[in-house]
Amino acid sequence: MIADLERARQLAINEQRLVRRHVNLALATSLVHTAICAFYLWGGYFSASLPVFTALFAAIWVGNIALLSLVRSGITRHRRDPSLSLWIALWLTTGFLVSIYFVETPEQSTVFGEVSTDGFRISVMMVFFAAMLLASFRLNFWKLSVLALYASGGYALVLLMAFADHGVRLSFTVEWLQWLIFSVTAAAFCVTGAGINALRSRLSGKNEELGKALEQVREMAIRDELTGLFNRRHIMEILQQQQALADSGDYRFCLCYLDLDHFKPINDTYGHGVGDQVLRRFARLVHDSLRDADYTGRLGGEEFVLVLSQTGLEEAWQVAERLRARLEEQSFADLHENLKVTVSIGVSEYRMGEHIDDAINRADSCLYRAKETGRNRVIGETHLDSVANG
Ligand code: GH3
Ligand code: MG
Ligand code: MG
Repeated sequence: MIADLERARQLAINEQRLVRRHVNLALATSLVHTAICAFYLWGGYFSASLPVFTALFAAIWVGNIALLSLVRSGITRHRRDPSLSLWIALWLTTGFLVSIYFVETPEQSTVFGEVSTDGFRISVMMVFFAAMLLASFRLNFWKLSVLALYASGGYALVLLMAFADHGVRLSFTVEWLQWLIFSVTAAAFCVTGAGINALRSRLSGKNEELGKALEQVREMAIRDELTGLFNRRHIMEILQQQQALADSGDYRFCLCYLDLDHFKPINDTYGHGVGDQVLRRFARLVHDSLRDADYTGRLGGEEFVLVLSQTGLEEAWQVAERLRARLEEQSFADLHENLKVTVSIGVSEYRMGEHIDDAINRADSCLYRAKETGRNRVIGETHLDSVANG
C-alpha cells in the first residue's frame, strides 16, 4: 500500500518530467515561429534578404539552444525555477518582436501577387501565447505581467518603427486594433496563467506534505513504538535478506537473542512506568553499542534480537559480552536507588542453506541455557555444543 501511495505521489508531480516537457514545448514554439517566418519569406511577405533572415534565426536558435542546454544539463536544478521559464519566454518573445518588424509585404509578393498583409504580423505574435502558457506553469502573476508588458510594449515599438519607416504601406487602424486585441488577450493570459501557477504551487505543497506523511507511515510500519528499534516483522524481513546474502556465498552473519533478567519483578516492584523506562534505556544502550551495519529489533516484551552482519561466532560473542557488561555497569539510580538490570544472551551463527528459524532456535536454546546457568551471561552455540558433548 505504501508503494502504491508513493507511486501516486510521484505521478502527481514529477519535477524532471515537467522540466523535460518545458524544454520540448519551448523548442516546438520556436520551431513554429521559424516555420511561419520562413513561409512568409518564401511567399514574399518578409521584407528581409535571405542572409538577413538566416542571420536573425541563427541568432534566435543559438540563444534557444544555449538556454535549453543549461536547463537540460541540470545546472539549474537547484534554482527556484529550474526550467528558466521567464528567461526562455523573454528570449522567445524577443525573437517574435524582431521578426515581426520584417513581416509585411514589399511592393509585390512573388508568390501570391498583390495581397493585403493585414493580420500577418499578429499571426506571428499569436505564437507568443504558447510561450506564455508554458511560462504560466512556473511564473506568478507579476512575472507573467512583466512578460506580457514586454511583449505588448515591444509590439507597439515595432509598429511605431514600421509606421515611421514605411507607414504608407500599412493600415493604421488594423495594425493598432490588432495590437490592442493582442495586449488585452495577453492581460487575460496573465490572470488565468497565474491561476494555473497558484494551483500548481498548492499541488506541489500538498505533494510535499504527502511525502512527509508517507515517510512517517513507513517508519511506523517498521519501528517498535516504545523503544524505536525495529519491530518483529521488520527484523524478520532483515533476517531473510541476510539469509539470502549468506546463501549466495561469501557472507556470514550472527544472531543474538536477548532477554532481560527478572524483568517481571522490576515491573512488580517499581511499577510498569519504570519498566518501560528500563526497556527504552536498554534499547538506547544496544543501539549505541553497535555498528551502523548491524540491526536491532524488539521481538516483544523484554526480548530483543541483534543481527550482526559480516561477523563470525567468536566476534559476535564478544560484542554480546561487551553489551552485557555495559548493562551490568549502567546505573539506573535515578529511577530507583536499588534498581539493577542485567541481560542474558544466546548467540548463533547462520549456517548456509538452513531455515532461518533454525538459527533463531539455536540462539534461543543458548539463551535458555544462559538463564538456566545463572543469568547475566552470554552463551554462544559453540559453548552449547561443548556442554552437550561434555
Ligand atoms: P527471566 O529472567 O526468566 O527472563 O524472567 P522475567 O521476569 O524477565 O521473564 P517473564 O517472561 O516472566 O517476564 C517478562 C515481563 O515483561 C512480563 C511483562 O509484564 C513484562 N513486559 C512485557 N512487555 C512489557 C512492556 O512493554 N513494558 C513493561 N514495563 N513490561 C513489559
Ligand atoms: Mg522473556
Ligand atoms: Mg526476561
